[in-house]
Amino acid sequence: MKIVLNTLPRGKSEQIFDSVAQLQQDKSIEWKPLQFELKLGIDRQGQNFYLHGNISCTGLFICESGMEEFEDTLKSEIKVMLTFDSKYLESYEGDEMFHVPAHQAEYDLYPLVHDAVLLAIPISHRCGTDCKAGEELQKIIKPREKPDERWAKLKDLFNE
Ligand SMILES: [Zn+2]
Repeated sequence: MKIVLNTLPRGKSEQIFDSVAQLQQDKSIEWKPLQFELKLGIDRQGQNFYLHGNISCTGLFICESGMEEFEDTLKSEIKVMLTFDSKYLESYEGDEMFHVPAHQAEYDLYPLVHDAVLLAIPISHRCGTDCKAGEELQKIIKPREKPDERWAKLKDLFNE
């Protein structure tokens, strides 16, 4: 997922990356990436490159509730500024900035994309609000351990 900086036109341009291969080959990813798209808006101002990317990544995940596989699409963004001129490092107040040596024409976006995608995964990742597989699983794990609610209410009455 490399952009070639020194051939980029001045001002605004756009690039689209839609190969999922690199994510699929990444051993650090424990789910199955199916589709990927990065729409990258680039604004080149002299030595500086302002990048704003919208990421959409579809994959097969394991539902935390029912342990079944489900498909989900993660949305994420990257915002970064690259510069050939290190003097900007002190004055820039944006999100992230990287200094690229002037002789290095290519910049690999993959590490940024990788982190953005992984951060987009919800902490509690489920197939939906009511998970059928989860209900089934609960039945197997807890065969009617819960006391009948009506008895519980009666018990409270006696306690009062
Ligand atoms: Zn589920």
